[in-house]
Amino acid sequence: MRATVENLFALQQLQLQTVPASAERNAKIRKLREKIPVPVLSHFDRLMAMGRKGVALVHDGICRGCHLRVPSGTAASLARPKDLYLCDNCGAYLLVPLDEINPPVDSTPPMPVPVPVRKTRKKPVATAV
Ligand SMILES: [Zn+2]
Repeated sequence: MRATVENLFALQQLQLQTVPASAERNAKIRKLREKIPVPVLSHFDRLMAMGRKGVALVHDGICRGCHLRVPSGTAASLARPKDLYLCDNCGAYLLVPLDEINPPVDSTPPMPVPVPVRKTRKKPVATAV
């Protein structure tokens, strides 16, 4: 599913280019459009036709299309997308850049060390009756 949004994003970049159309670019656009499911493409086209972003990047949980916070549930799902997610506000397909999902790690995280549970046996307290 991530590939679909990435294709959409690449398509958006191509379509938003202001350089004069070239045969090469048209071929790229056509190839990308072939890879994207028709319902997804039509939603994307509708947004683009309205002058909106078809795909919005999400940074720090904020949709870059409308600058509103993405619901935390959606943000969590975006890290491991099984589906396509739309911004509730601007309707753009949401894409989290890969470096935000897998932040560069310098060292491998230490293995969790089981904490020994020290059982203190309580001596039966002699109670004076
Ligand atoms: Zn948005």
